[in-house]
Amino acid sequence: MIIPKQLKIGGRIVKINRKLSSDMQGDLGFYSDWTGQITIANDLDVDPTQQNVTIIHEVIEFLDKKHQYKLEHDIIQSLSENLYQVLKDNKLVFK
Ligand SMILES: [Zn+2]
Repeated sequence: MIIPKQLKIGGRIVKINRKLSSDMQGDLGFYSDWTGQITIANDLDVDPTQQNVTIIHEVIEFLDKKHQYKLEHDIIQSLSENLYQVLKDNKLVFK
């Protein structure tokens, strides 16, 4: 998947920033509630599948903060891995 420049989530446009993994201080991605933006490590050092999982993870982080679900981080990690698997293995594309 090509990482999009922005995503529409819950009626908002969320900018997706790309950074070198060497500039991410060990993170593969993060959502900033302060800027309202998602940042993803995007270079050849990061497995493409991991980048896809990370985007889903950060979308869940966005939703968690916006709706105050107060999800534990291990739940967010599990949801992102499993949602990615369902979308990919079933080739789900909604148009
Ligand atoms: Zn996280």
